[in-house]
Amino acid sequence: MSDCIFCAIVAGTAPASVVLDESDVLAFMDIRPFTPGHLLVVPKRHASGLAQLDPEDGAKVFAAGQRIATALRSSALPVDGVNLFLADGVAAGQEVFHVHLHVVPRTARDGFGVRANAQSPTRTVLDGTADAIRSALGSDGA
Ligand code: 5GP
Ligand code: ZN
Repeated sequence: MSDCIFCAIVAGTAPASVVLDESDVLAFMDIRPFTPGHLLVVPKRHASGLAQLDPEDGAKVFAAGQRIATALRSSALPVDGVNLFLADGVAAGQEVFHVHLHVVPRTARDGFGVRANAQSPTRTVLDGTADAIRSALGSDGA
């Protein structure tokens, strides 16, 4: 996609600090890192969101993120844990509309966090919600 910054990075027409370059996947440092070592894994083929993403590309993005997360733990960076994070849609915080998996190295008290207002719904409510999602999946979820 011509006006997509991550496509420009994949094409080599925009600069990036590349960590991993595979045939279908590229990983590079985030320019505004949440923590030191925060990077992004993207499919080389443009997909604006999860609904547009080829599942095989999705699998390769996750596999690269998993491999990098493991490598981070034995790197020279301070890493006690890792968050994998993907924002799909404006409401989820997506700002760049080329699918990307955030890989965020974590240390205790690094200040990174996802705010949540967790509830404790009844089993009836949980079952009803599961029903709604199973219906959307078009199967019984098995
Ligand atoms: P989102 O909010 O869409 O999940 O995350 C977009 C991420 O892309 C942000 O963390 C932001 O810092 C990063 N980002 C935006 N523009 C660029 C860029 O031109 N180069 C790189 N390396 N990262 C970018
Ligand atoms: Zn793109």
